[in-house]
Amino acid sequence: MYKTPPKTDTPLATPVQFVKGVGPALAKKLARLNVFTVEDLFSLIPLRYVDRRRIYSVAEVPVGKEMTVIGQVMSSGIYLLGRSGKQVFQIVVGDKTGKISAKWFHFRVSYMKGLFQIGTKVLLAGEVTQFKNTRQFIHPEIEILDQESESLEAGGKILPVYPLTEGLYQKTMRRIVRNSWEGFGKYLRPALPLDFLERYNLADPWESIALLHFPASDIDVDVLNSRRSQAHRTLIFDEFFFLELGLALKKAKMVRQEGIAFPYNEEVVTRFAKILPFELTAAQKRVLQEIQHDMEKPYPMNRLLQGDVGSGKTVVALSCCLQAIASGYQTAIMAPTEILAEQHYQTMQAFLKPFGIPCGLITSGIKGEEREKLYRSCRSGEMPLTIGTHALIQDELEFAKLGFVVIDEQHRFGVLQRQALHKKGKSPDILVMTATPIPRTLALTAYGDLDISVIDELPKGRKPITTRLYSEKQRERLYEGMSQELKKNHQVFVVYPLIEESEKLDLKNATEMSEELKRIFGSQFKVALLHGRLPVPQKESIMHDFKNQKVQILTATSVVEVGVDCPNATVMVVEHAERFGLSQLHQLRGRVGRSHFQSYCILMADYRRSEDAKRRLKIMSETNDGFRIAEEDLAIRGPGEFLGTRQAGMPEFRVADLAKDMDILNLARKAAFELIEKDPDLKLLEHQAFRQILRSRWKGKLELVQVS
Ligand code: ADP
Ligand code: MG
Repeated sequence: MYKTPPKTDTPLATPVQFVKGVGPALAKKLARLNVFTVEDLFSLIPLRYVDRRRIYSVAEVPVGKEMTVIGQVMSSGIYLLGRSGKQVFQIVVGDKTGKISAKWFHFRVSYMKGLFQIGTKVLLAGEVTQFKNTRQFIHPEIEILDQESESLEAGGKILPVYPLTEGLYQKTMRRIVRNSWEGFGKYLRPALPLDFLERYNLADPWESIALLHFPASDIDVDVLNSRRSQAHRTLIFDEFFFLELGLALKKAKMVRQEGIAFPYNEEVVTRFAKILPFELTAAQKRVLQEIQHDMEKPYPMNRLLQGDVGSGKTVVALSCCLQAIASGYQTAIMAPTEILAEQHYQTMQAFLKPFGIPCGLITSGIKGEEREKLYRSCRSGEMPLTIGTHALIQDELEFAKLGFVVIDEQHRFGVLQRQALHKKGKSPDILVMTATPIPRTLALTAYGDLDISVIDELPKGRKPITTRLYSEKQRERLYEGMSQELKKNHQVFVVYPLIEESEKLDLKNATEMSEELKRIFGSQFKVALLHGRLPVPQKESIMHDFKNQKVQILTATSVVEVGVDCPNATVMVVEHAERFGLSQLHQLRGRVGRSHFQSYCILMADYRRSEDAKRRLKIMSETNDGFRIAEEDLAIRGPGEFLGTRQAGMPEFRVADLAKDMDILNLARKAAFELIEKDPDLKLLEHQAFRQILRSRWKGKLELVQVS
């Protein structure tokens, strides 16, 4: 913390500590809300508003709406809730007309007792509910009214409600914002170009901020609370615009970089198609064309290939690698797990054989001479295709001529890892792949600088997977079902969750489960156990045996979550399904249903399910549609979690809400991309201000977005 205000580029960058009435202690609390500077404080747009224009008398305050009353504390204290014995803090407040109570279920006794002394004048605001024959507030917002605050807080106003953190009160927040506005509001410069305001029906940004922090008393509170006021629209647009402007700038830069133009090689494509044991789907053919067209261009490709689990992304990636190899370049494919890297290696090897093209594998398990040999062949430029895990990005591994890079299951890698692989070549083309269908809003933000290809169709003859939700009581039925499928010579996955802090315990569960399955099925079928701690060769041999159907039941921790492809498996049993996230469940289910056989996914779940878990399981049993599942996942977890914002390297939204503001996002994106098209380097005089804003909004992260 500073003693005197440091020199900053603009007064708005002044640490919030120096706002009148803040100081180091409050600044620490504000930091928890990601508020560090005066500007951050202005961007902290209220969550909602309370209407204090009308203070009701206690007798007439209506039930079921957000209301405000003022009265005197008549009694206060703790009582115990009937059956549970839980402590409740209650006060009764009265005015000339009657009495009303307020209750708290979470509180600190000493604090509450001190606050609500008999006779204290208080303001209570919140929803009034009816309980038996009394009316009450539950966890209301409160103000202790002395002479001064009464005039400030209570008098005929619409008041903002800010996000808070422990030890920071609504009243304090309002005061801080007011003080900083008085001190620094004048330095706020509208950033959006004036002609935008008219074109996109926006308000003056400065006025919008002022209005949202200090709403005039004649404003419509409902419109404010719906976030649909023109002021909201303006600030949301502003936020999206500068995000998209950064992305557009980055994309424009990419286009002007020198890259590799891979000429289209018809012969390779035709030969590859002939080798495949199936015909490519129309969607696979379409995305192949898109990618190859992009590869022909003389600047670096940066493309996301999106396709639901089992849609056949691997062969598409391989076909593209072949194009690059045919022009004399090296290629690499990075996968998040050893099992998946090994599987890709097997698949690719088989497909490449007829071409006489070798490929190499690098994982942490590959050591000694084998590793050295691979290093040598990569460095000399001989090795055309290298497949690997994170081991691919080690410093020792160098390529003579890396021209094309594939990152499979890209969401499992961090930005820096993707960037590291990219740097192994000289502006290589990049294809990142994901099975998580990203809702459009997110695609336009998180992947706004990438081009996107989508495989929106599964190979012919796939049957929708039947999903069932079982509880422990139905275990017999589960075994019966498994047995029926096993008798048809099909195979079964049984997956246990892996929770980091109790890895040992989970392993024990999986081990016990595998013992039980051996007792039940062992006389007829082979059961194996696969988990992350096994040495690599053993993992490989187990996967190998499962693929070759020597093992019929594979018990595993979630190491099989992504990518694993064993088309003969028709049953996926997920134990403790309530512990898995939606996208994980969808990925796990995607391990089956990869052939023309009917497949089943059985979710074994505990009865004590949290609300979120219930919702997840319900969606899983309702739909196989990865797109719908992703949207629900987004709704449950929110965009930050869903994307892993840390991983995406993007600024966080302060006002905008990706789930709700799609229309504004589209407008802002269009505006940003049009502007960059006209002025790709932001050289024009009237755009100079944007550079500064971009720098402060993106906080140096602009270079990091996505792959490069
Ligand atoms: P994902 O997109 O989940 O990575 P994969 O690439 O692993 O899917 O493909 C899933 C399975 O479907 C593999 O066994 C693959 O060989 C097979 N496959 C891919 N394309 C087709 C197709 N056009 N017709 C039939 N099977 C296909
Ligand atoms: Mg895959």
